[in-house]
Amino acid sequence: MTDQLKKYLLSDHSARIQAVRLTDAWQTGLTHQHYPDCIQQLLGELVAAAILLSSNIKFDGSLVLQLQGDGPIALIVVECTTDLSIRATVSLREGHDIPADGTLQSLLNTQGAGRFIVILDPSKKNADLKPYQGVIPLEGDSVAHVLESYMPDSEQLDTRLWLTSDATHVAGLLLQRLPSHGGTETAPQETLDETWQRVNHLAATLKDGELLTLDTDTLIHRLFWEEDLIAFEPQDVRWYCPCSRERVGNMLRALGQQEIEDILSERDKIDILCNFCGKPYQFDAVDCASLFTGNPGTTHEADDSIH
Ligand SMILES: [Zn+2]
Repeated sequence: MTDQLKKYLLSDHSARIQAVRLTDAWQTGLTHQHYPDCIQQLLGELVAAAILLSSNIKFDGSLVLQLQGDGPIALIVVECTTDLSIRATVSLREGHDIPADGTLQSLLNTQGAGRFIVILDPSKKNADLKPYQGVIPLEGDSVAHVLESYMPDSEQLDTRLWLTSDATHVAGLLLQRLPSHGGTETAPQETLDETWQRVNHLAATLKDGELLTLDTDTLIHRLFWEEDLIAFEPQDVRWYCPCSRERVGNMLRALGQQEIEDILSERDKIDILCNFCGKPYQFDAVDCASLFTGNPGTTHEADDSIH
């Protein structure tokens, strides 16, 4: 598997370590989405962060990172379910130049009006749980720095993040201190503090590029080989957008036959892009007619596959 989240616990249970690495899933996500390098990199870092943070949510649902920008980027939305299905998209604002060395600040917060919102959205199965929404100050020059100062968790656990991405990979490392549960087996506070500082120091030896190029097992061994770690079963991550030809057809049907015929009087087909994953859908006159006669369309069936 090329797309996995791996979780570890220090044997004294004082901190967790998590690493995510995507190859195929990231490339799937970019299939229909083409952004300048700096924006693609930013999106990749947010994808890594969303996976690392969503994996510790204690209910079924999803974590959404929503960045509303006032510069070249109007909106970024990254959604990761607790079973690690992820999707992400960027909306650019027309008429803005995108600096080649664009950063979180210069792409999203040029006038200080950018907003970074974290939403924890329980699935419908958890009818008694309400969505939680928190606003993170957009202060800091990287996604990792902004998120480190804020955790979507009432426990406010000390957290360190390292995030990176390029055109082919997304990778991230999370280090999180866990609350002491007391009891006679808990190490003294001083020892716990020393342990936290030691693993932080080890993680800080991570060199530029190592996170991007090393597979997770090598990375964890290189950084923490002297530590006694409990390793958990790796979890697969997949890129998933629930859009489908059927859903797009339902949307067109809802516009009404007259509206569709008006559109088709000016062009020979209707092209629609999923506004989340960018996947293109095409409906010609025959496809459109079948929406209103109840006969299933006979063309483009291959497009029905969930990507
Ligand atoms: Zn889609």
